Amino acid sequence: MWIWADLTSDGLASSALELLTKARELGGEIGAVAFGPRATDAVAALGEHGAIRVYASDDDRLEEPTSRVAAHTLVALIARDSPDVVLFPSSYRARDVAGRVQALTGSTVMANAVDLPTIDRARAEILGGTTVVDVDLAGPRPHLVLMRPRSFEPAAVGGTAEVVIVDVVEPAGFVSASVLSRTDPGATGPSLDDAKVVVAGGRGLGGPEGFRLLEELAGAIGDTAIGASRAAVDAGWVPYALQIGQTGATVKPEVYLAAGISGALQHAVGMKGSRRIVAITKDPEAPILKMADLGVVGDLFQVLPALTEEVRRRTGR
Ligand SMILES: Cc1cc2nc3c(=O)[nH]c(=O)nc-3n(C[C@H](O)[C@H](O)[C@H](O)COP(=O)(O)OP(=O)(O)OC[C@H]3O[C@@H](n4cnc5c(N)ncnc54)[C@H](O)[C@@H]3O)c2cc1C
Repeated sequence: MWIWADLTSDGLASSALELLTKARELGGEIGAVAFGPRATDAVAALGEHGAIRVYASDDDRLEEPTSRVAAHTLVALIARDSPDVVLFPSSYRARDVAGRVQALTGSTVMANAVDLPTIDRARAEILGGTTVVDVDLAGPRPHLVLMRPRSFEPAAVGGTAEVVIVDVVEPAGFVSASVLSRTDPGATGPSLDDAKVVVAGGRGLGGPEGFRLLEELAGAIGDTAIGASRAAVDAGWVPYALQIGQTGATVKPEVYLAAGISGALQHAVGMKGSRRIVAITKDPEAPILKMADLGVVGDLFQVLPALTEEVRRRTGR
């Protein structure tokens, strides 16, 4: 079994360690594929988490935005070493690569999985997370399975991995798209993936200025990321990167605070794994209150400033 190890500008993504922990549970030889900036720096962590071999290349061409080079290079490796399964995270990059590999190899791809009970069976949550289904993976190998984030808790085992430096395969007729400019979303504070606390806002915030109240609360708590419901994102109040739910990010912080969010199923699938859930809504019938460990029925424009003031009094921030 192989796993796709995503590399970001901050180094190895934690999703690689989650996937390795799952792969170990299923047994067999585990390979990790690390393509991109400082891939070889990631080898030690991948070995510690169970990879016995890391297929690595730092070659700049693997960073090309449409993932064509990465996909063709991976296909060449697959043809040579024939893994049964390749696990991918659900990042944009990994989705691009998995889609292209599927098209090039004709193998089976399964997206949005939450578990892999055996190497021939993937588990998914459908109908807004209300129904769990097991899907038999048939068809040509390797089976390509994209896992939802945070499906597994990473755990190290303390091994070391052999490094296989990969020859990059550049497909004929290359250069189909080029990057004209990049925009930095200007994220501040911890990411949704890493933050201990997530404070998220929905339609009830009434507009972009409502998110200032959440920013103030986040600043007072510390190590806190801002999230949003799709309604707030669709209204253009905050960028898509903040969206939590079925078509956004999955988060599992220690504390998730939802302000002005009703708790629709499609939102709940992205946050229901949080350790503690706090909800502020003026609707006593809102579904979020059924999930919440602490529910406050009231006007968020009164509750949030009062909460921020109290947190500031206690933390001094
Ligand atoms: C295919 C599909 C995928 C989807 N994916 C996602 C997804 O990834 N993420 C997602 O979030 N949604 C998703 N949705 C949309 C989802 O169904 C809901 O429409 C959305 O989550 C609602 O957002 P909301 O809770 O902010 O808004 P609403 O449902 O309108 O809830 C607003 C809440 O704020 C409360 N409120 C209003 N004013 C105040 C106030 N002053 N003080 C306190 N409370 C107040 C209201 O009582 C209500 O409870 C998806 C839908 C579909 C069909």
